[in-house]
Amino acid sequence: MHASSRPAVSGAMIFYSEFDDYAAWRDAMQARLPDLRMVHGSEAHDPASIHYALAWKAPQGFFDRMKNLRLIVNLGAGVDSLVGREDLPAGVPITRITDPNMARMMAGYVLFATLRYARDIPYFEAAQRRGEWAYRHPRSPEDVCVAVLGLGELGACAAQELRRQGLTVLGWSRSPRSIDGVECHSGMESLDTVLSRADILVVMLPLTPQTRGLLDRERLQRLPRGAALINVARGALVDQAALTDLLRNGHLGGATLDVFEREPLPIGDPLWAMDNVLITPHLASVAIPASAAGQIADNVLRVSQGLEPANRVDPARGY
Ligand code: NDP
Repeated sequence: MHASSRPAVSGAMIFYSEFDDYAAWRDAMQARLPDLRMVHGSEAHDPASIHYALAWKAPQGFFDRMKNLRLIVNLGAGVDSLVGREDLPAGVPITRITDPNMARMMAGYVLFATLRYARDIPYFEAAQRRGEWAYRHPRSPEDVCVAVLGLGELGACAAQELRRQGLTVLGWSRSPRSIDGVECHSGMESLDTVLSRADILVVMLPLTPQTRGLLDRERLQRLPRGAALINVARGALVDQAALTDLLRNGHLGGATLDVFEREPLPIGDPLWAMDNVLITPHLASVAIPASAAGQIADNVLRVSQGLEPANRVDPARGY
């Protein structure tokens, strides 16, 4: 909507994130909604003046006394740290960011990590450290089976990109999905079959009461011997102690982990020192102010006009 043809936005938007650049988000939001007052969570403010929140992992109690809150925008895709909190005013809608650029950034990470295994790069890295010319004939892409658990905004995009590389791609979701070239499965009854076929398993599920601990020891053992695991979703989806054991005893060949049960991963955790593990500090994909501010601004306008916001999270479903 053109600035001159829309009503002024009342109330302020509060920002909280320890990881994202406040100035960049403030400027991106105000470029779209010049009359929106932005407040950082650490600045003095009247809680009653806050109508909108743009937040990532705000501490418990952050939303206390924000009695006029009309919209909470999760500054990312995973809403597990927002759903079920007790400091939110009842019924306030929670939305997430669904940004093609965020999906592309995630797909880039997944593609890198998957192709690294599909092309046996860890084997060559180890050979190089030994100063050894160790020829291993490349596998045909279609002979490598990648299973993607979670076919949402991010998972579907990653599955398509993997398929574009000629890999054999299986997908798994709660309800039936259809993605060109991807063999899609759904429901708990098909999970074991999907796992048993995966040379590379990519975890892209939201953390909900149903998915917490889903990849326990028994399910991880269903993966073929030597399989690799890539977790870019949430650490608590996987039994980390079992994962560590299986990486040690060779049942799993390798893991690329962007997320952990506890973050930062504690100093001294055995995963840090394992040659077959690649660790990144939870940054597989991030929200980008310039590309996501538009949809947030649209939702602020919708809510200020009494309309339902887009990309609303279903708290009962947990994602
Ligand atoms: P979506 O909410 O768009 O999609 C979730 C997918 O998981 C859907 O396909 C859904 O099934 C499926 N799913 C949910 N519950 C179950 C279940 N019980 N059994 C089987 N399938 C299930 O999520 P996104 O793709 O946007 O993001 C996925 C996760 O990635 C986020 O929740 C977040 O935790 C993580 N993330 C990590 C980042 C990082 O930097 N490491 C950055 C951004 C996100 P259905 O299709 O039937 O609904």
